[in-house]
Amino acid sequence: MEEYEKATTVMCTVIGMDYANNLSYRACSLCERTLPDTLNDTLCKFCHNNAASSSKRLFRILVSIATDTKVLNVMCFDRAARVLFGCSADDFFHFSKLHPFAASNAAKILEGEMFRMTLSRPKNGNAQHLRAVSIVPLRSGFKPAIESLKEFYGVKPATS
Ligand SMILES: [Zn+2]
Repeated sequence: MEEYEKATTVMCTVIGMDYANNLSYRACSLCERTLPDTLNDTLCKFCHNNAASSSKRLFRILVSIATDTKVLNVMCFDRAARVLFGCSADDFFHFSKLHPFAASNAAKILEGEMFRMTLSRPKNGNAQHLRAVSIVPLRSGFKPAIESLKEFYGVKPATS
């Protein structure tokens, strides 16, 4: 995939999402490094921040996309994934606790949506997937997954 050595922008359709794994991971709120998913460790071992009281979740989602020529798996980290979900990873995590099928339903909702994605090959040599560094919806009526999910589950917006 040498053609993606530099950032490349593609028009694509979402064809799937790896929702069986967690869509997000727990990170230290100070240094943003990955923390264990359990709250047993009270200190971040990198910056010694008290992780039990100040951690947050960040999205990390493997998304399958189809361009006009190929099918690709791309990794969407927090900033890109927020465009798809329309909320923070913490908000989605709590929503999923109340609605256990929220992740698989979000995947179904986003399937078939068209986006302009900027893809780049991570500089970290261990990373196996292309990364979506920016995502822009192409359909004018696009709604982020959380909005459709709230309608689906009958959750009223706080403002109404
Ligand atoms: Zn830290």
